[in-house]
Amino acid sequence: MYCWPGFPPNGRNTTTMSEFTLSLLRRQKPRCAKTWLPGIQAITDLLLAEYGTPTLGNYRDPVKEIFYIVLSAKTTEPLYQAAYRRLWKRFRTLSEIANASATELYECIGGAGLGTKRSAQLHEIARRLIADLGSNPGKRLKRLSSEDAYCYLRSLPGIGPKSAFCIMMYSLDFDVFPVDTHVHRVLCRVGVIRARAKHYHAQSYLPGFVPQGRSRELHAALVVHGRRICTPRLPSCQLCVIRNLCKYGRKASR
Ligand code: SF4
Repeated sequence: MYCWPGFPPNGRNTTTMSEFTLSLLRRQKPRCAKTWLPGIQAITDLLLAEYGTPTLGNYRDPVKEIFYIVLSAKTTEPLYQAAYRRLWKRFRTLSEIANASATELYECIGGAGLGTKRSAQLHEIARRLIADLGSNPGKRLKRLSSEDAYCYLRSLPGIGPKSAFCIMMYSLDFDVFPVDTHVHRVLCRVGVIRARAKHYHAQSYLPGFVPQGRSRELHAALVVHGRRICTPRLPSCQLCVIRNLCKYGRKASR
């Protein structure tokens, strides 16, 4: 187990990380990665040629990104985008969110669903960031090692492994590869992972297939592709630029 080494300096250093989680950060290469690496490189190039370098609205500021990621869970893009804008329009600073009442927070973000739960989470996150990291939490977060950043983020309410990886990738510049529902579905169909692979299993070995330094662009491109073309119910394989590299697409065209 990995022990969080005395960070933050308030004595709350009890978060531990299993060897399994550490292995996710170490980006271990599965034995079959050599076979798939050229395929994933080609998929990355084709998707980027199709979509450009897509942006999903994520933030370079880690504090803003934490709030954005919490609001984006289990809801649709227009709803969480609107909730995020309302939140930061009404509360200009982290302290204002930490001092807001549950009702005030609910009024801003309730429209994105899970309002009561998420209001409590955002309130606690604001309070914790100030208490643990002081007046400039974003700067402190950017100085952490990948293990410390992951541990700290996971200790915040509403931040699971995928959310922690997203924040690390988008705003802390770590080369980690979050596996969300779109990434999982598209790469299952392509044939990189087994159709019934559990999410934690996919998260444990998919990063090993991703070319070094290309995690962010591939992740964003797969999300866009999963939303527009490789949709859950009926993928539009005839419009797909990676069809020749996809097991499902090749089968469908026979
Ligand atoms: S060929 Fe079809 S199943 Fe394969 S990635 Fe493209 S849209 Fe998805």
